[in-house]
Amino acid sequence: MADLGEFQARIRELYLERDRRRGLFRTFSWLVEEVGELSRALRRGDRGNLEREFADVIAWTVSVANLAEIDVAACVDALYGPGVCPRCRHSPCSCPPR
Ligand SMILES: [Zn+2]
Repeated sequence: MADLGEFQARIRELYLERDRRRGLFRTFSWLVEEVGELSRALRRGDRGNLEREFADVIAWTVSVANLAEIDVAACVDALYGPGVCPRCRHSPCSCPPR
């Protein structure tokens, strides 16, 4: 599965009712929890666990977007579709390091 819009639709189908019952801010809290797990996996360098944690972070991000009624693929296309950095408008990015 490569298409972000398809992925968001799949996550909506799988979890929207549960996500609605949980609510926007509790679902967002789960996303933050998953980001913490990704951080731990990165520090440990456990490849299998890393793949799982990246997938979870993307899935929970999309769940939050579903509850906020945000089309993630459209947002990504609008911001990054032109293929240049949205801040400096260069490719590769030439913004000062941060
Ligand atoms: Zn830039």
